[in-house]
Amino acid sequence: MSRKVRVRFAPSPTGALHIGGVRTALYNYLFARQRGGDFILRIEDTDSTRYVPGAEEYIMESLEWCGIKIDEGVREGGPHAPYRQSERKEIYLKYALQLVESGNAYYAFDTPEELNDLRAEMEAKGETFCYNYAVREKLATSLRLSAEEVEERKARGDQWVIRFKMPENEVVAMDDLIRGHVEMNTSTLDDKVLYKSADALPTYHLANIVDDHLMEISHVIRGEEWLPSLPLHYLLYRAFGWEESRPEFAHLPLLLKPTGQGKLSKRDGDKLGFPVFPLKFVAPSGEVSRGYREDGYFPEAFINMLALLGWNPGTEQEIFSMDELIDAFSLERVGKSGARFSPDKAHWFNAQYMHARDNEEIADIYEAQLRERGINIEREKVVKIASQIKMRATFPEEFWSLSSFLFEAPAAYDEKATKKYWKADAPRIIGELRSLLAGIEEFSAAEMERVCGAWIAENQIGMGLVMNAWRLTIVGEPKGFGMYDMCEVLGKEESLRRMDAALATLPKAE
Ligand code: GLU
Repeated sequence: MSRKVRVRFAPSPTGALHIGGVRTALYNYLFARQRGGDFILRIEDTDSTRYVPGAEEYIMESLEWCGIKIDEGVREGGPHAPYRQSERKEIYLKYALQLVESGNAYYAFDTPEELNDLRAEMEAKGETFCYNYAVREKLATSLRLSAEEVEERKARGDQWVIRFKMPENEVVAMDDLIRGHVEMNTSTLDDKVLYKSADALPTYHLANIVDDHLMEISHVIRGEEWLPSLPLHYLLYRAFGWEESRPEFAHLPLLLKPTGQGKLSKRDGDKLGFPVFPLKFVAPSGEVSRGYREDGYFPEAFINMLALLGWNPGTEQEIFSMDELIDAFSLERVGKSGARFSPDKAHWFNAQYMHARDNEEIADIYEAQLRERGINIEREKVVKIASQIKMRATFPEEFWSLSSFLFEAPAAYDEKATKKYWKADAPRIIGELRSLLAGIEEFSAAEMERVCGAWIAENQIGMGLVMNAWRLTIVGEPKGFGMYDMCEVLGKEESLRRMDAALATLPKAE
């Protein structure tokens, strides 16, 4: 019987969630949804020195904005609650002790000062200190001390840690769903701390393995930076006797800088002007980081872009809704090498979603912007303008500059455009057009098009000639959208007024 798919996103609340982390969450989510599995959010907050207040809420708000729905988690609860490791404190010691008993781990009493001295001593000899098989029996560990001494030290309140006893010279053979078969010799690895008496907390490695086991996680999909920890994790599963139910692993490639050189950092974002976080984040220090949401990205565009940073569908398709991603996603099509982030591509995705957005939705955003400027116009007009500007915008912040001329008549006429489009016969043509428009009862784009179209055809005037000159009178420069649509929004009176003003100001026919 195949196992129920259960995946977890397990961030540590140490600050804003990097977009690489959002992508990890997304791939986990897509994988779970496709296979009818569960997506779990577990907060790994056992490192109290790195804890940042607000980070946990930030993570949850980010996932929510992205449309990633959590089945079990801190807020949602679930059969394996609690999902915050600091609230699971009591669970871990038992497991750490189990490893000591089975000979897979040991107590170590070295103080940080002693370890620093040892490190300095080795460095003076040109060697690097590694807490491993070569030194553990010479140090203050339960491998050297007698059982009584260990008990005595514990009883008198000495601080201790439990370290994993990494086997010497053993090849660990591992399988990764993205990287394939990987082998590593244990002699290159150190004896990681699993538990600390100082704060009665496990370290990441122990808590992560224990929780993945208890929460019945079937697949661990996480960033490539955890690949070096995989041998230890494999050995922990073996030491606990949990190999049968060990999850499968998939390590995702890094997100790279736009140059392709190195990991994408906040500094790159600041330098090149793009966010590396989903939402704006205000750190406890007061430092503000920009976010995709606040920069005007649609969550769907953001998710679409992220999905394709590391995964490819094997087709030319680029636009994917969340449901389409759920259908199409596969770990087999996740690349091994880093995925280069492109700010231009991020813009491109947002523009695609902007153009395809429902007019009413764009109208809501636009209407709010207008209201902020003290402008109140009929909803029908708002929708009409929205339908035009969305085709020309990438971000909502461009809406005003794409439409401000509808609310402000030209104060001057662009010189270059005047020279180019206000030819000798322009005053006559625009004058005729003005009379024609004045005679139209129902001032709609369709009616104007019908009447003006016939007039242009009948008189054999160049369409471009009319439109360019007309645009100059209405907008003052070569921008805006379709003339009929613009004039419908402006209304008959305002359109004619602008034409009259232009005829009075622009050069008359010689
Ligand atoms: N807490 C770890 C992190 O922040 C989780 C790594 C994992 O998924 O195993 O990345």
